[in-house]
Formats: sequence, structure tokens, C-alpha cells
Amino acid sequence: MPEPTLNPGWNFQTTYQNLHPMMFSQVKPQPAESPSLVLFNDGLAAELGLDFSELSSAEKAALFSGSALPDQASPIAQAYAGHQFGQFTMLGDGRAVLLGEQKKPGGQLFDIQFKGSGRTPYSRGGDGRATLYSMLREYLISEAMHGLQIPSSRSLAVAETGEQVYRTRMHKGAVLTRVSSSHIRVGTFEFARRFLPAEALEQLLNYTIDRHFPELTESSQKALDLLRSAMALQISLITKWMSAGFIHGVMNTDNMALSGETIDYGPCAFMNRFNPKTTFSSIDAGRRYAWGNQPGIAKWNLGVLAGALLPLIDADPEKAKDSAREILESFDEQFQQSWYSRMAAKLGIAEVKGDGDIGLTDDFFKLMQQQESDFTNSFLYLENSAEWLEGVPSGDGFTALIQKIRERQLQNPGGEAQARQLMQSHNPFIIPRNHQVEKALTEAAFKDDYRFFHELLSELKQPYRRPEASEAGLRRNLTAPPEDGDGDYRTFCGT
Ligand code: AMP
Ligand code: MG
Repeated sequence: MPEPTLNPGWNFQTTYQNLHPMMFSQVKPQPAESPSLVLFNDGLAAELGLDFSELSSAEKAALFSGSALPDQASPIAQAYAGHQFGQFTMLGDGRAVLLGEQKKPGGQLFDIQFKGSGRTPYSRGGDGRATLYSMLREYLISEAMHGLQIPSSRSLAVAETGEQVYRTRMHKGAVLTRVSSSHIRVGTFEFARRFLPAEALEQLLNYTIDRHFPELTESSQKALDLLRSAMALQISLITKWMSAGFIHGVMNTDNMALSGETIDYGPCAFMNRFNPKTTFSSIDAGRRYAWGNQPGIAKWNLGVLAGALLPLIDADPEKAKDSAREILESFDEQFQQSWYSRMAAKLGIAEVKGDGDIGLTDDFFKLMQQQESDFTNSFLYLENSAEWLEGVPSGDGFTALIQKIRERQLQNPGGEAQARQLMQSHNPFIIPRNHQVEKALTEAAFKDDYRFFHELLSELKQPYRRPEASEAGLRRNLTAPPEDGDGDYRTFCGT
């Protein structure tokens, strides 16, 4: 393997390795047989203070497949546990390795992680590998989330390994380089609480505060404040997911990051036709993680976080529980506020003023549900009544509701202009529609044809942009819902 001789700007820290030694295992990624780079995110590299332009393609392929490690790297796999579909399990990075924490210009740390880079001590029965198909999927959707301004892990590169991976059929293997502001999960706290001495849990608390909530450093109630802050971030995140029709699909506690970023793109998908019970995950038969259940699940997961934090909240377990409960009990009200305020913005209303505004949102959703309307296009229709938008509600009820919303918009401090600005910044013109995502992935992963993948990716990077008259073709095509709704579309975990 060619060793990259130049330093593209790595400024690796290893702060996680100051935590209790059981929190991680030193492990090297497995070298790939004959790696090649298939995707690379120049914009993200620049944001991280990295410049790979002097590296040859062979060096880049070796680097991003985990086959040739930078001298500065000290790779680890992280230990964590988690509640999966409600059941506690020991987990950990079974197919991921943290290369290092890149210190960005400006000082913030970002985890640079390889996903699909081979077995680790936490692999259990798994092969530690990932398919090209699912790594391309994570790249596309995570970058689309970033485009939508929804906090998310990012994707820096995908490299094929040149090896085959078996998942009901043969697939090409690949490694994704994922970038996150950390990978501290609710499940990380569960692990420390369940298996490590009390000091290790406290260290993790302090570490999380240093990394994500420095404003709490001087707090006299760090654990409670962390719970409160993590809850606020989750409320904001889930509001944003739901406002774009996003369904994470596997909100196990190990897949919920304290940073408030979306992580672990397995069975996630965006819905076309609106139905709050929608979930696409093949293993979610009980619809635990359906679109409309996401706030309740977030609250449940935060309850698990609270449980892990109890000994740090108060030495008296009853007092600790009471204090945690008080915070958790404010979830519903905070979520309602967050939800209606974002929905008002989607309707072009600057500020929620009472039940009338709440009613407008509820009525809008009721109509979409009754008519199984297209989630994205229904909101776009409100802005411009464009006849070519497919799948929008029809009938007198909808016309009357639109009329009411438009009248309400005139009461904005900035009137109609503000309404337009709000709708254009909160209602995406395009989302990653399942049928288009599948087309892009199938052509790229199975036919080596990346043209549509790149076309879609570049549109998804600026999803709020309205099309110029001259480019109506492609962009209008991308707004078209699939003919049969989502049919029996299914997505899969951990592939
Ligand atoms: P996920 O569904 O991706 O959140 O993964 C759940 C757990 O299974 C995590 O501990 C993963 O590291 C582990 N896992 C998923 N796929 C594999 C694999 N192919 N090999 C080893 N571990 C895996
Ligand atoms: Mg996971």
C-alpha cells in the first residue's frame, strides 16, 4: 500500500482516550484488497482544514479505505451499549474505527471515522464490513440532511475495498469516512453506568460537557443540566426531521447522539404520501419508529439517559429520580412549542399567536392525511399554487384553508414578503425521494454509473433553492412523487 507521505492538514487529538480504558479498544482498520476512491467531498475537506489535492489517487484510495494510516492517527473502536427496540444490549463499534479527532481551524473537534473497515472487539458475529450500496446511501442522505440544514454527521469519502461482501447476495464492499462532532450516544452513558466504576461515568459526563456544552462547565448540577440541554437538542432535531417528512427508522438509544446530530443512516427514508404511521424499516414490524412516534421515542430514550445519569444527579436515588422526572415531564410542552413554531414558519407565519394558528397547522396535516397527499409538494403548493405540482390536496376544504393561511400571513410584521421568505427557507423544493435514491444507488453500486447519483447529490445540496424558469426540466422532475406512492418500499439496517 502506498503510504501518504504528505500531511493534508491532519491535526489529530486523542481526547477520547483519556476516558476509562474500557470505553474503547485500540484497533486498526483492516487493509483493503484493492481499494479505489469513488466519492470525495471537497467542500467538507476544506471546512475541516484538510487538503488532499497533493495525494495521488492510489494514496487517497489507500487512506480512505483504512489501508494506509496517517502517522498521526491512533485508531480506536468505541464501546457502548444501548436499548434496541426496547431491549438492553452490549454493542460498540462493530464495523467502525475512529481514526482521530480532527481539530478544525477555529478549534472544534470532529471525529473522523471509518465505517465498514473490518472487525473489532465489538463485532460479535458480524464481518465488520459494509456494502458499497449502503455506504453510498449514507453519503447521499447525510449530505442531503446537511443541505436541508438538519444537524447530521457528514460524509467525507467512500472507497471501494475491492472485496465482496455477502448480504443475501454478493455486494461490493466499501468504507465510508464519516465526520461527526462526536459519537457520544445515549448508549455510551448506558455502558459506563452499567459496567464501569462511578468515576468513569462522571468522567464521561465532564468530557461530554467539555465537547458539546462548555457553557455548563461551571454548573453545580452538571448531570441535570446535561439532560436538559440534550433534551433541547433532541426536540429541535426531531422537529426538523418531522418537518421534512424524515423517518430515522432505528431510533435505538445507541443511535441517538448527545450532540443533537442525526447519526446512523440505516433504514431511514423520507416519506412521499403523508401518513403519520409511515415507517420503511424492514425490521420495524410494530412501527415503533414510525414518523409520528419519533417525539415519544426521543422522550423514552432521554428517560434512559436520565436513568444512566441518576447517581450523578443526587446521592439519594429518590431525589435524583424526582429531579430527572421533572425535566422529562416538560418534554411534551417543549416539543409542542417547537413543532408549532416550525410548522407556522412552513405556513409562512412568523410567530404562533394562539389556538387559531395551531388549528391552521392541524387542519393542514388533517387534509394531507385524509387525501394521502405528497408531504413536500403540499407545502410548496401553498407558496405558488403551481399546477404542475403533483400529489397536492384538492377540494373546497383545501382551497378555503389556503385562503385562511394567506390572510393570516398578511398579519406578519413583514407581511407577504416575510411569508414568502419563511416558506422558501422552511419548505424544501426537493427531498431525497425513495424512488430517485434507489435509482441513483442502483446505477452507481451495481452498474458503476455515477451520473444520476451526482446529479441528485448536487440538487440535494441546495434543496431550498427555487428553480429558474430555464432549468425547470430536471428540477421539476425531481419534485415528482413516485406513481404508486411508496408502494411497499422497504429499507434495511446495518447492511
Ligand atoms: P446499526 O444498526 O448500524 O446501528 O448497528 C448496530 C450494532 O451492530 C452496532 O454495534 C454495529 O457496530 C453492529 N454492526 C452492524 N453491522 C455490523 C457488521 N457488518 N459487522 C459487525 N458489527 C456490525
Ligand atoms: Mg448504530
